Amino acid sequence: MTQIAFIGLGHMGLPMARNLLKAGYPLKAFDLVRSAVDTLAGEGALAADSAADAIDQAQVVISMLPASRHVESLYLGEDGLLNRLAAGTLVIECSTIAPESARKVHTAARERGIALLDAPVSGGTGGAAAGTLTFMVGGDAQALEKAQPLLATMGKNIFHAGPDGAGQVAKVCNNQVLAVQMIATAEAMAMGVANGLEPAVLAEIMRQSSGGNWTLEKYNPWPGVMESAPASKGYSGGFMAELMAKDLGLAQETASHNGNSAPMGALALQLYRLLLKQGKGKQDFSVVQQLFV
Ligand code: NAD
Repeated sequence: MTQIAFIGLGHMGLPMARNLLKAGYPLKAFDLVRSAVDTLAGEGALAADSAADAIDQAQVVISMLPASRHVESLYLGEDGLLNRLAAGTLVIECSTIAPESARKVHTAARERGIALLDAPVSGGTGGAAAGTLTFMVGGDAQALEKAQPLLATMGKNIFHAGPDGAGQVAKVCNNQVLAVQMIATAEAMAMGVANGLEPAVLAEIMRQSSGGNWTLEKYNPWPGVMESAPASKGYSGGFMAELMAKDLGLAQETASHNGNSAPMGALALQLYRLLLKQGKGKQDFSVVQQLFV
């Protein structure tokens, strides 16, 4: 069976790697945080001491890192993994990064005969654990065909968004919509509750009405409305506000390439920056609720 190197075992990477292990794939894992590697090793993975160690014997490399700079430093440059991987290796890069950055890594991979996909995901930590993520893939159709069984082990919907970097473009568009919906939902929850409504009642009315959206379905920002949502767990776990701020920054950059106007995204970015200044960057992005109470 395909030997996998998995690099980056954070909120998303760990449950994704777990699903590959459960499906029987031999997997060697690395993260800068040793305890994450040890957790997965306890479940049957091989523990690597470095990224270079993880890719030894690997036919497929999967990475799930925070941002562009982490991905570029992992793959590019003299000591980058692309200089160490055998031609023919498949790299599935799942982090959300700048489309430009993804294209840079694609080009370097192609020069070395390595097939690479940018394959960012949507669906949150719940989707990662359940193996129901949505993958938005950029790159060659042939490489995607090869990746299909692995992606299907971690996800439910697999879209070929287009050529190199297209997965990242789709992802920043999606996350801009998500941020705007989260903020609008938080704002409305605060307004309704301040005017005497029960939070759960208001949430259910909006969920089933024309204001309904993903945050009302799966991720209500008001504590106690949804038991499984990060808001009910002190805004812990989930998707960090600082990562949402990163994605909104990427969306603004992407918009500016073609002179697009993205005012809702710009406002969302400013509100998330405010949260970061308040020291809430490590909390789940639904913590934006606290700006309105
Ligand atoms: P995270 O910060 O929890 O995990 C990132 C992991 O990468 C950390 O464990 C960190 O130690 C590790 N890491 C960083 N640099 C490394 C390196 N050089 N070598 C090995 N490990 C390294 O972040 P996350 O929430 O898992 O998100 C990962 C990516 O997925 C981000 O790009 C994020 O925007 C995206 N994403 C997150 C969610 C979510 O709900 N959390 C949903 C969709 C997409």
